[in-house]
Amino acid sequence: MTTLLKFGKGNAKLSKKIATISLPSGFTCPGALECLSKANKVTGKIKDGAETVFRCFSASQEALYRNVRENRWFNFDLVKGKTVEEMADLIEASLPKQDIIRIHVGGDFFSQDYFDAWVLVSERNPDKLFYAYTKSVNLWINLFDKLGQAGVKNFKLNASRGGRHDHLIEEFMLKEALVVFTEEQAAEKGLLIDHDDSLAYTQDESFALLLHGAQPAGSEASKALQVLKKKGKGGYAKKKATA
Ligand code: SF4
Repeated sequence: MTTLLKFGKGNAKLSKKIATISLPSGFTCPGALECLSKANKVTGKIKDGAETVFRCFSASQEALYRNVRENRWFNFDLVKGKTVEEMADLIEASLPKQDIIRIHVGGDFFSQDYFDAWVLVSERNPDKLFYAYTKSVNLWINLFDKLGQAGVKNFKLNASRGGRHDHLIEEFMLKEALVVFTEEQAAEKGLLIDHDDSLAYTQDESFALLLHGAQPAGSEASKALQVLKKKGKGGYAKKKATA
């Protein structure tokens, strides 16, 4: 019997109609820079990158929950080293029944082949809606003729700022999800704030995300998060992660 990838259900902020799949945060994020954090595969001990401004929420979950960490490494170990076709076949065979699939709560498109495999899966499954946030915008750009500035009808893409390839977001005018520290910051930029991911997969305009998760002590992000929490906002990690 084929070993299949592990999908999860939406976390605290996502609709239960959404299935998710994740890979190890940081380890599979070649475009990560300001968010870069990694939870050790064995111990779960978290390590921030040299230029971390806001700590990766997903890495924090991996540090907290061993089963989350193990599931993500299980998926990564299963897909890596395969061809585009092999990865697409594996992903397709593993797809859950939900109609909406969020590609990655933790992790990112770690190679062009892996990115291409998901595009292929979306083409083979027009009745499902796939969406992703990504800092691997350099890989997206390689498929720009096909995917455009926000993805296509059933494969929606959202550039995530704070990565190594941010300049491409402006250059190609990509749809982006901008992490903001305050609601006022979002208003100044004229961006709607997304609270449940719906702006990521229902429309093609850029939007804002309020900072969440645990942040490095003493950082600007940490101070901003305290303010948001006092207002009852930010910090979606109320429930145990399932991805
Ligand atoms: S790209 Fe996403 S998953 Fe990867 S380290 Fe950054 S925030 Fe975490």
